[in-house]
Amino acid sequence: MARSKKKTGGAREENGEPGRVVAHHGVAVLVRFDHGGERQIWLLPEQRAVAGDRVVVVDERLEVEPAYGILRRRDTRGRERTIAVNLDLLGIVVAPEPREPPGYIDRGFVIARAAGIDVILLVNKIDLTAGRELVEQLHEIYDASGRVLAVSATTGEGVEAIAETLAGGKLGALVGPSGVGKSSLLNTLVPDLNIRVSELNRRSQKGRHTTTTATLEELTGGGFLVDTAGFKDFIAVDVGVLEAASFFPGFETALEGRCRFRDCRHRSEPDCSVLAAVASGEIASRRHRNYVDLLDELELSPRSARRSR
Ligand code: GDP
Ligand code: ZN
Repeated sequence: MARSKKKTGGAREENGEPGRVVAHHGVAVLVRFDHGGERQIWLLPEQRAVAGDRVVVVDERLEVEPAYGILRRRDTRGRERTIAVNLDLLGIVVAPEPREPPGYIDRGFVIARAAGIDVILLVNKIDLTAGRELVEQLHEIYDASGRVLAVSATTGEGVEAIAETLAGGKLGALVGPSGVGKSSLLNTLVPDLNIRVSELNRRSQKGRHTTTTATLEELTGGGFLVDTAGFKDFIAVDVGVLEAASFFPGFETALEGRCRFRDCRHRSEPDCSVLAAVASGEIASRRHRNYVDLLDELELSPRSARRSR
């Protein structure tokens, strides 16, 4: 809900303290103020705020600004939960061991691009023998779509480069299958992370049911990373079926051509520019299969189907 700046701007400057939600504890949030300092602010019943939200605190009440760059997941009961908002960058973390499920990276690209979030592909555990080969493979597939960075939480290689992508106060999040090294990377990027997380948890001991769901960690270079520990997966809730192709990594050039049908889903339609690129070998058929799998998934999602109309 957009509020008119004209109406409230003056009052806010006098009474309100602008800041950002850096941790969410269920019934309260921790706000870091732009002018320094942090304070816990209780949420009103039904009031929602998540890590990354820009807020103004007026009389110990939270006013939440409209957000962009929204990342969601589905919880164990199938409900949609927002992980973080106002994200500038999504780091998709993969590793030679364990390898991600087929199509994982593409899904990440599509979800992030649909939300207006930049993508960087982080190939971790580059210190392992199989690491270099994987980096080469992924460079070949994804260079045209985004940045591919070889990193190692163990040796520290490439870690500086991750911090640089967030310099100037940008907000990023790391996603990836369990075991690829997301926590290790976060710990390398935020040296005193463990100490600070336990401090945040201690401060939130206001009730038995308060749990920290996501926290924002400041990097030495000035950027922020969302600690998404405990989030298993993220979902394509905000991607329409017709958007999937336009955000699919590797389809960019083919889509400059024209399909016969304006609502072509590039699956098996006649005179399809994507299928023509598959036939000519410009797009590997394995890449197209990944796309069709994602399309199948989106078509089964009621929300995505609705958005396609
Ligand atoms: P997460 O589940 O993605 O958070 O992964 P973790 O950070 O818990 O790491 C999983 C395992 O991979 C741990 O045993 C780490 O020590 C190991 N690991 C993480 N980063 C690296 C790396 O760069 N190189 C190697 N060889 N192992 C790593
Ligand atoms: Zn087509």
